[in-house]
Amino acid sequence: MTNKLKYFIGNWKMFGNLGSLKIIYQIQRFCIRFKRRGKKNKIILCVPNTLISFFTNELKSKFISIGAQNCHYHENYGPFTGSVSASMLKNAGAKYIILGHSENRLEGETNKIINKKIESALNQKLNIIFCIGETFIEKKLGKTFLVIRKQIRDSIRKKYNLNKIIIAYEPIWSIGTGKIPKAKELKKIFKFIKDEVKKNYRTKSPPAVLYGGSVNGNNIRLFSPISEIDGFLIGGASQSSKKFIDIIKNYYK
Ligand code: PEP
Repeated sequence: MTNKLKYFIGNWKMFGNLGSLKIIYQIQRFCIRFKRRGKKNKIILCVPNTLISFFTNELKSKFISIGAQNCHYHENYGPFTGSVSASMLKNAGAKYIILGHSENRLEGETNKIINKKIESALNQKLNIIFCIGETFIEKKLGKTFLVIRKQIRDSIRKKYNLNKIIIAYEPIWSIGTGKIPKAKELKKIFKFIKDEVKKNYRTKSPPAVLYGGSVNGNNIRLFSPISEIDGFLIGGASQSSKKFIDIIKNYYK
């Protein structure tokens, strides 16, 4: 088992209240014990906007970072009722932000809008977790590589600081369905993403590339041997400290 840094990022989606701090404390206690065993992990929890400031103030933890799940493309204040900008999230204490999640793409978010959001989040010095992935139909039509190449090229400009961007490959057909891609397919897709970024952005060290979609404490063992995967974006299972901790523990078993 490699000792390379691995990311375990929780996407809480529309979940949680002030009492959910106990979930974070349980994960933190586990991180402290686990650290002593020499594992190099980065744990990030992307929570609803209502909890960012409360969690960052209570937590003051070097083991867990708090992130947001989306923002408006307009960087500062503006006439956008119900929206929150990257500068407001930064001010609330977020260090990371998920952008381009398929649940938001489904609501009409285009590559062009995602590009604007990435630009404003980068201006605010937030770290981006940029989601890409194909639908089931696109997969069946053999369009996976075309789709993810377009998502990357349309959203990430050549001038961007790639050190601030993490890519999360999340096939849409896998999110919340219990279905996961075959190891052979994943290896090919991860190689493609990393080669594509190296070639198009002329960088020798491409961003970390994570897998997301129905990861749980049982199937995580299937991902452990795939060295190309730099970590995981975990949705449903990150809403329970036990399930989230089981994923990390079982990954290294
Ligand atoms: C997600 O929403 O980013 C995700 C990966 O969800 P799940 O783990 O529930 O499939």
